[in-house]
Amino acid sequence: TLRPEPIPEDGSGDGDRALRPQGLSEFIGQAEARANLRIFIESARRRGEAMDHTLFHGPPGLGKTTLAQIVARELGVNFRMTSGPVLAKAGDLAAILTNLEARDVLFIDEIHRLNPVVEEILYPALEDFELDLVIGEGPAARTVRIELQPFTLVGATTRMGLLTTPLRDRFGIPTRLQFYTVDELFEIVSRNARKLGTPADAEGAREIARRARGTPRIAGRLLRRVVDFAVVEGDGRITRDLADGALTRLGVDRLGLDGADRRYLRLIAENYSGGPVGIETLSAALSESRDSLEDVIEPYLLQQGLIQRTPRGRMLAQKAWTHLGIAPPPRATD
Ligand code: ADP
Repeated sequence: TLRPEPIPEDGSGDGDRALRPQGLSEFIGQAEARANLRIFIESARRRGEAMDHTLFHGPPGLGKTTLAQIVARELGVNFRMTSGPVLAKAGDLAAILTNLEARDVLFIDEIHRLNPVVEEILYPALEDFELDLVIGEGPAARTVRIELQPFTLVGATTRMGLLTTPLRDRFGIPTRLQFYTVDELFEIVSRNARKLGTPADAEGAREIARRARGTPRIAGRLLRRVVDFAVVEGDGRITRDLADGALTRLGVDRLGLDGADRRYLRLIAENYSGGPVGIETLSAALSESRDSLEDVIEPYLLQQGLIQRTPRGRMLAQKAWTHLGIAPPPRATD
């Protein structure tokens, strides 16, 4: 329940809308991406043109959708949202593209999962704002060209590597989002706690920030759960003790790892002597898809220096042994 996939509560529900940053200046963290976007937005506005196509990539929950919405708002244009898997047929995309107004932002989430047929018609749309549609079938089939309004595509992906080269090359502004620092998450948690009407003292907010896996979506989710504990079992204030107790009961440990993270680390420690072990083997043993291991679990463990990726597979780093409280096996070679 603590995985960073969108859930209604924090993906689209009303509760979230109040917490989502509305403008670039309210958006905390990602300083480099923000500074660049500010320039590109301002330039597009002054020239009265559509902003260049933009790609956000990085693990789930880091603010790709939020930034796309902010770009549209700052440009003063409409925001249209869809996702790769939803666009099954060329006609689905055509319907959306032909309805765009000049300079609108079209956001396609999980753009690495576009059907190749759909991707094919996207290329001329991105390059020349033209759509080539095939009408009819067999000998009677003919192609019609439709002119589109200039628009900005904002793509989001957790897997840059799965994008085809021609698609990747059509984004003028590729932007990698990074995990957030504890200080940045501290600011986000403090601000959101105030908005939720349950103030957090500095140590309480910092405890949640430290355990949020570098991810604002997780920070938001943990904060809501800690608020529940503060209301029911505390005096309505978030202190360090209260946050610590609540998070521990939720299975979030001192490093912010949850049950799935620890299962992953333990498997490598206990069944494979710390590795190296291949991703397919891990996927089968954990009954988790390879994608979810690579997109969701591993990036943070790598960033924290708990595991290493080697040509022969994944290996535990010393920090992971220490964290699990297990002694590493003596090495055979040295
Ligand atoms: P992604 O599209 O990368 O999966 P989202 O944009 O949906 O992530 O963000 C997930 C959640 O985190 C949302 O509730 C959003 O409001 C919040 N969030 C993301 N980035 C920030 C930020 N920089 N400051 C405050 N909240 C943020």
